[in-house]
Amino acid sequence: MTEKLNARILLQPEEVPKVWVNILPDLPVPMTPLINPLDGKPAPPELAFAIFPKECVLQDVSQEPTIAIPKDLREIYATSYRPTPLHRAYGLEKEIGLEGDKIKIFYKNESVSPTGSHKPNTALAQAYYAKKEGVEELITETGAGQWGSGLAYGCNLFKIRCIVYMVRASFLQKPGRKILMKAYNAEVHPSPSNLTEAGNSFYKTNPLHPGSLGIAISEAVEHSLRSNTARYSLGSVVNFVLLHQTLIGQETKMQLAKVNETPDILIGCMGGGSNFGGLILPFVRDKLNGILPDLEIIGVEPKACPSVSKGEYRWDYGDSAKKAPILKMHTLGHTFIPSPIHAGGLRYHGIAPIISILCNNKIMYPAMHHQTEILEAGITFTKSEGILPAPECAHAIKEAIDQALKAKENNEKKVIVFNFSGHGFFDISAYEEYMAGDLTDYELPTEEILKALKSTDMPVIDETQF
Ligand SMILES: *Cc1c(COP(=O)(O)O)cnc(C)c1O
Repeated sequence: MTEKLNARILLQPEEVPKVWVNILPDLPVPMTPLINPLDGKPAPPELAFAIFPKECVLQDVSQEPTIAIPKDLREIYATSYRPTPLHRAYGLEKEIGLEGDKIKIFYKNESVSPTGSHKPNTALAQAYYAKKEGVEELITETGAGQWGSGLAYGCNLFKIRCIVYMVRASFLQKPGRKILMKAYNAEVHPSPSNLTEAGNSFYKTNPLHPGSLGIAISEAVEHSLRSNTARYSLGSVVNFVLLHQTLIGQETKMQLAKVNETPDILIGCMGGGSNFGGLILPFVRDKLNGILPDLEIIGVEPKACPSVSKGEYRWDYGDSAKKAPILKMHTLGHTFIPSPIHAGGLRYHGIAPIISILCNNKIMYPAMHHQTEILEAGITFTKSEGILPAPECAHAIKEAIDQALKAKENNEKKVIVFNFSGHGFFDISAYEEYMAGDLTDYELPTEEILKALKSTDMPVIDETQF
């Protein structure tokens, strides 16, 4: 009993990290630039400044190993929900038949933020800089609504207008997060809409078009470029978002140190790669510096949208209408329309360029699971630890369970740490279908991926020009 009083490892508000960890100077190859979709050349700073808050653009290319978190912003993190707890998953360990202390599972609980996921870590930072720079509106897209509600929360706190283009399929099927966004004063439009050129090209042929994240991004970028006091806000993929998320890994490291542990395996789910990056990047620095040379790092994706496992590493548009910057990343092609699996947050065609570079250099590797498998793992977790995970997050749980059972079989000692990226209280319908036995698994056929990647509108970028 006394030992188990250690199940929740807490930090004090004053222990919120003072910096973000910038991995760019540590990478084994230089970071690739953002490319202007209009001319195929590296985006000049003025273009990026017209799209994103200026400070975020500067952070995106900074080579400083750490970037100081402004004092006021750090105070907001500390008064709202940070540091978040690290839990030893005693309940889950018991549930899956682990005994003793040979294999330990820990999870970092980002579900305690006001909107229930890690998204406010960057939403608060972006809203903070926008406010400071005199920006009056932040425009964004959202799939299932986790990011939209995160940003709406941040904007409301800083009294900035928030406009969200929400993929229509989710807007209609999952009204919960739409209502939460409205409660935070956000304006929410189903996408494709008739409010933008990009949206209208789909809307006019089908006013009930289900939409995609790629289309919604195009709408949000177009909308933000209309006004000098509006900026676009992105919830994943780009360097500065992963930077903001490194609060997760830094706190985890302090918490593990409190119980004298170092991780053998780190696990996170990957949509655009931000919660995964946030957990791992502070540890990646240790791995590259020889402090944790044997650390294994696993990013988990759905079999229905395996951007890293099966995509190609190449230049691609960030969105469907080719308005957003071009990135070099693992991609299934910007025309890819994912199957309607429940882990909406993992249905993006690409991945963060930082994650692609780590993967190419074997610093981490990807894993994939089916949606029925991950929801089963989600239920196992709910039974044993009490929190219903978001389907996205259940991918990490499934992998953590598999790794623990593999270690048990091989009679190995392991400390396994995963990021609990968010709760699933708005995703009840996924579990309802799973329990009713109504869910099907989708696996993206290789031929289909190859076909999408052959699409003639994929950009060819001359890398000798930079
Ligand atoms: C958005 C989201 C994800 C996926 O996005 P990343 O940028 O890859 O982190 C994962 N889990 C939850 C709970 C989310 O809301």
